[in-house]
Amino acid sequence: MAESLQADYLVVGAGAMGMAFTDVLMNETDASVVIVDRHHQPGGHWNQAYPFVRLHQPSAFYGVNSRKLGSDTIDSEGWNKGLYELATNSEVCAYFDQVMNQQFLPTGRVRYLPMTDYLGDGRCKSLVSGETVEVNAAKTVDATYMNVTVPSMRPPSYQVDEGVACAPPNALAQLTGHYQRYVVVGAGKTGMDACLFLLRNGVSAENVSWVMPRDSWLLDRANIQPGKLFASSIGRSFAQQVEVFATAESVEEALLRIAEQGGLLRFDENVWPTMYRCATVTQAELDQLRRIDHVIRMGRVQRIAADTIHLDEGTVATSGATLHIDCTADGLERRAALPVFDSNKLVLQSVRTCQQVFSAAFIGHVEATYQDEAVKNELCTPVPHPDSTLDFFKTSLANNLNAARWGQDAELQTWLQNARLDGFTQQPTEAQAPSAEQLAMLRTLMENAAPAVANLQKLIAAAE
Ligand SMILES: Cc1cc2nc3c(=O)[nH]c(=O)nc-3n(C[C@H](O)[C@H](O)[C@H](O)COP(=O)(O)OP(=O)(O)OC[C@H]3O[C@@H](n4cnc5c(N)ncnc54)[C@H](O)[C@@H]3O)c2cc1C
Repeated sequence: MAESLQADYLVVGAGAMGMAFTDVLMNETDASVVIVDRHHQPGGHWNQAYPFVRLHQPSAFYGVNSRKLGSDTIDSEGWNKGLYELATNSEVCAYFDQVMNQQFLPTGRVRYLPMTDYLGDGRCKSLVSGETVEVNAAKTVDATYMNVTVPSMRPPSYQVDEGVACAPPNALAQLTGHYQRYVVVGAGKTGMDACLFLLRNGVSAENVSWVMPRDSWLLDRANIQPGKLFASSIGRSFAQQVEVFATAESVEEALLRIAEQGGLLRFDENVWPTMYRCATVTQAELDQLRRIDHVIRMGRVQRIAADTIHLDEGTVATSGATLHIDCTADGLERRAALPVFDSNKLVLQSVRTCQQVFSAAFIGHVEATYQDEAVKNELCTPVPHPDSTLDFFKTSLANNLNAARWGQDAELQTWLQNARLDGFTQQPTEAQAPSAEQLAMLRTLMENAAPAVANLQKLIAAAE
C-alpha cells in the first residue's frame, strides 16, 4: 500500500521558487510542508545548467529571504570587475542544499521527497524505487509553472544531421581537444555566456560565428547593484527611466533616451533590437562580445547538415571541424498569466519582472498574511516574462501598477523594506544616510510615478 503523508502544503518543485516560497512559510507560519522534486537535490534547473554558468544578477538578490548568498565581495578581476559577486551554479546548488538540510528539515515541519515525480492529485512516485506516496495536503503549490528549460534538458528544435558536432554549452567545459571553429546558435543570455566562455579561454574571435535571429536590448549589470552601489546606480537609472516613461511621445523615443542614459545597451549600435528578455551584461562583457564579427542574422536555424547551416532566410557554410553550440532553450518562457491563488491551489509566477525568487517569497508572505483570496490575487498580479521590445514597456507598467498597489499597504511596505531579495524597496540604513543626490532621485521617482503609468498606457496602446 502507498505511504500516506499529511501536510498543510504540498510544494511541487524544489527549484529556486519552491524553496523561496517554502522559506517564508517556515519563518512566518507554523505550517507543515511536503516538497517533491525530480532532482536529487534542491536548486531545479541549476542542477542541469552548463557548469560555467553564474547568476546574471548579484548573489545579494538571490536565493531565499532568510539566508544570505555569497559574501558581498566586489570582484577585483575579470569582466565583472568592480561589481558585486555572481554565484556559480555549484555555489547556488550548495546553497539550496544547505537551506534544505540546515534550515528546513531541522524544523521537523518539512518532508522532502527528492528523485520523485509528481503525478497529480497528491500522488508522488519515486524515480529510484518506484514506490508511490500519497500526500494529503490542504493546499498544493505549483512551483513548476514557469517551465524553465536549459539546453541540456532537451534536443535542439532544429534538425541536426548525423555526424554533425552539435551540443549544449555543457560540452564546452568537457572538451578534450579543440575545434577549428565554433558556431554559437542563439543570442540570448546563454548564447552570450557561450561566446564569453570561448573568448575567455583563448579562442580567437575570428573563429567564432554567432547565429543571432534577433538582436536584444540588454540591461547593464552596473545598474543592478545592491547596498550603497545600489542606492546610487539603480536609483539613478530607475529615476531616469521613470522620467522618460512619464514624458516620451513614442516607444522609439523612450528607448533611445533610455539607451542614451545607459539604462539599456545593445550589441550593435546600428541595429535596432526587437527582443527584450532581461539579459544582463557588463560593459566589459559587451566589449568582448563585440569582437565577434561573424554574426549571422538570417533568422532561426532549421537544419545543420555536414557542410551547410540552413536558416529561415539563407544558408551559411560549416564543416566537420566545427562545433555547433546549441543555446536555443527557452529559460524564460512566456506563459499565460494564471491566478496565483485559486482555492486550494497556488501557482507561483513572477510578480516583478525577471525577479522570480523575490516573487515566490512575496507570494509566500501574502499567503501567510492575508485571508481574502481576491485581495491576495490583487496583490500578486502576475507579470509574464518579456520577449519583445514592447514587453519592456508592458512589464514596466505592470511592475509600476503592482508597486503602487503594494504602496497602499503599510505592513507590506515594512516587509518589503526588510526583504533581502527585494533590491528595490530597501531603504538606506542609518549608517547609509541618503545623500542629496539620492534624495533628489527619490523626489524624481515620486513625482513621475503616476504620470509614468498614464503615459506608459498611452505609449503601449499607440504601439500595438
Ligand atoms: C541560466 C540562467 C541564469 C539565471 N540567472 C538568474 C539570476 O541571476 N537572477 C535571477 O533572479 N534569476 C535568474 N534566472 C532565472 C531563474 O529561472 C530563476 O531564478 C529560478 O532559478 C527559476 O526557478 P524555478 O523554481 O522557477 O524553476 P526550476 O529551477 O525549473 O525548478 C522547478 C523544479 O520543478 C521540478 N519539477 C517539474 N515538474 C515536476 C514534477 N512533475 N514532479 C516533480 N518535480 C517536478 C523540476 O525538476 C525542477 O527542479 C536564471 C535562469 C537561467 C536559466
